[in-house]
Amino acid sequence: AIFCLAAHNPGRQFVAGKVPLGLKRKGLRVLVTGGAGFVGSHLVDRLVARGDSVIVVDNLFTGRKENVMHHFGNPNFEMIRHDVVEPILLEVDQIYHLACPASPVHYKYNPVKTIKTNVVGTLNMLGLAKRIGARFLLTSTSEVYGDPLQHPQVETYWGNVNPIGVRSCYDEGKRTAETLTMDYHRGANLEVRIARIFNTYGPRMCIDDGRVVSNFVAQALRKEPLTVYGDGKQTRSFQYVSDLVEGLMRLMEGDHIGPFNLGNPGEFTMLELAKVVQDTIDPNARIEFRENTQDDPHKRKPDITKAKEQLGWEPKIALRDGLPLMVTDFRKRIFGDQDSAAT
Ligand code: NAD
Ligand code: UDP
Ligand code: UDP
Repeated sequence: AIFCLAAHNPGRQFVAGKVPLGLKRKGLRVLVTGGAGFVGSHLVDRLVARGDSVIVVDNLFTGRKENVMHHFGNPNFEMIRHDVVEPILLEVDQIYHLACPASPVHYKYNPVKTIKTNVVGTLNMLGLAKRIGARFLLTSTSEVYGDPLQHPQVETYWGNVNPIGVRSCYDEGKRTAETLTMDYHRGANLEVRIARIFNTYGPRMCIDDGRVVSNFVAQALRKEPLTVYGDGKQTRSFQYVSDLVEGLMRLMEGDHIGPFNLGNPGEFTMLELAKVVQDTIDPNARIEFRENTQDDPHKRKPDITKAKEQLGWEPKIALRDGLPLMVTDFRKRIFGDQDSAAT
């Protein structure tokens, strides 16, 4: 059953898609699903700072209240604990749809739930966007390219994805979410945007979510060996979270649907990443090799020509500059404020 939880700023006269160019954006009503998570909470900070009324819808599966608690008490901020697999009624101008576990450990934990979140959850948010005429942005993923046979990956590449593997709940789920988004655009004239996000790191990442950057940083701080899976020669491209948030906002505000790759083209093997972590935290940190997980993509690097040309966007923060910012946050969360002040 649909139930009404919030009707924000009922006096507002326009929807995002119909805002005349140049009109002051202050005071937009924005829904961020998954807004209590890592990326979502940084996005919320930017939206609140520019004067928007922000509603976060999050079931707190991998998100944390602590990520958005600094906005509690702000009349322009509201958090609703809700699962996007269930319908919801809200009135907003823009929807950033992020709700979905992102780390392999989390999305494999309950694969059927991951599929439902990607398919039914995205369907509900598109239905909501259609009813209220809101602009809808989907956060898809570089995983739609699977184990890519084209390198670097361009948006026109259709991917090399295993439909029956342990990652399929996530990558096929996101591919379906993209399909749904385009079908609502074509069929219901919905204003949509699609971002394909490449590996992103930064403060507020879950400490034990199993992703490689959070694992290495937490391990180095705890004086545990860095666990390199497989031979460590597989590559990823790591983007600092503020660069991603800037890209998402430009995409939402711009005129282009996408899909757009949003990632940092700086490509690292896992062994090179381990070296950067050693240089940043502890040169004596040991490396331990572990068996790799199934279907692990061998390489990944975005071609961001399209985002550069159409959004005027490119990442600004290199791994060696962004990593220390994350380390400061992890230090505080692992050891507490006092210890971190001393180290
Ligand atoms: P995250 O796990 O920190 O955040 C996801 C948020 O969604 C969490 O707050 C979680 O509680 C919430 N959520 C999950 N299932 C939900 C449901 N059914 N209903 C309501 N809320 C739900 O992950 P993140 O890194 O912040 O990722 C955000 C989005 O970006 C995801 O859609 C992810 O697929 C996408 N993405 C992230 C990366 C990355 O490297 N961080 C890369 C590619 C794509
Ligand atoms: N939906 C929602 N909030 C709304 C409007 C729709 O959660 O404000 C859900 C609705 O329950 C449905 C989905 O979005 O499951 C798709 O809605 P749509 O109207 O596009 O399709 P239909 O309801 O006709 O299947
Ligand atoms: N990885 C690793 N050690 C870890 C965690 C991950 O070597 O402790 C590797 C993993 O095998 C993959 C890469 O790091 O090749 C990125 O994994 P992650 O889970 O961060 O993201 P993915 O890009 O696979 O979604």
